[in-house]
Amino acid sequence: MSIWGSKSIRRRVGSGLFLCPAESTERAYWLFRMRTWLTIFSIPVLPVKVTGEQVECFCCGNTYKPGSAVAAGARGLPLA
Ligand SMILES: [Zn+2]
Repeated sequence: MSIWGSKSIRRRVGSGLFLCPAESTERAYWLFRMRTWLTIFSIPVLPVKVTGEQVECFCCGNTYKPGSAVAAGARGLPLA
């Protein structure tokens, strides 16, 4: 068993409303950020780099890239 390793962890960093392409209606979304962590004995100890972000529809669970038109329109509408 190796002491050092790495692991990708997804963390929720935001939320809002967007027009879900799959449902063609306004839905709540979560914004997630994926980050690679350095691990020791499988325990995350040090964040290494951000590997990406994704928007996930709260209702249908589909995911989209925040750079798309979908998420660009969504960012300005925080969930109350
Ligand atoms: Zn949806």
